[in-house]
Amino acid sequence: MSLNSHIEKVLWTKFQISKRVTELASQITSDFSSVSPPPLVVGVATGAFLFLADLVRQIQLPISVDFIRSESYGSGTESSGAPRISLDLKLDAKDKHVILVEDIVDTGNTLSCLIKHFESKGASSVSVCTFLDKPTRRKVHFELLGDGKYYQGFECPDYFVVGYGMDFAELYRNLPYVGVLKPEYYS
Ligand code: 5GP
Ligand code: MG
Ligand code: MG
Repeated sequence: MSLNSHIEKVLWTKFQISKRVTELASQITSDFSSVSPPPLVVGVATGAFLFLADLVRQIQLPISVDFIRSESYGSGTESSGAPRISLDLKLDAKDKHVILVEDIVDTGNTLSCLIKHFESKGASSVSVCTFLDKPTRRKVHFELLGDGKYYQGFECPDYFVVGYGMDFAELYRNLPYVGVLKPEYYS
């Protein structure tokens, strides 16, 4: 069975994704063009890896890149609630303008935890650039740090989506588009 045949419907094609990523990168380029020191762009592993790679290649500024890993999901589609940071940055975030790059914001638990983490490290601002946002699912309100900004690629309807970095049970991250699995594969 081919990979594409697992997908019930495609929400965003790779062409739509690429166009939107270009727009986000040029917005970030213009918003951070006079910021010093250069921004520290932090991808939230694993889900943000493709978005991060596409985004940073189009940001026309000197930036640093690092990863942080936060885990809250088991292998299912429901959040376990309390995220924990299971891999921290290599770089020092003190006095840095951090841009957190996420695959998707759902309940807000992960971002809320990560923003507090960067606040405790002494970051001067925390911005968020998420590929998808499911605002109707929000349970936790988070505030950006300092004069941090919020960027989102697309607003996502209330489906459990896969692809473009996002998994179900650690599969499907390699899809170049975002879609919904056929019901028989969510088990
Ligand atoms: P939150 O802490 O905001 O509830 O969830 C954040 C994390 O849960 C996301 O970064 C992502 O890893 C995972 N997540 C939330 N919704 C989805 C979804 O629809 N599909 C996938 N694959 N992961 C999701
Ligand atoms: Mg994530
Ligand atoms: Mg996951």
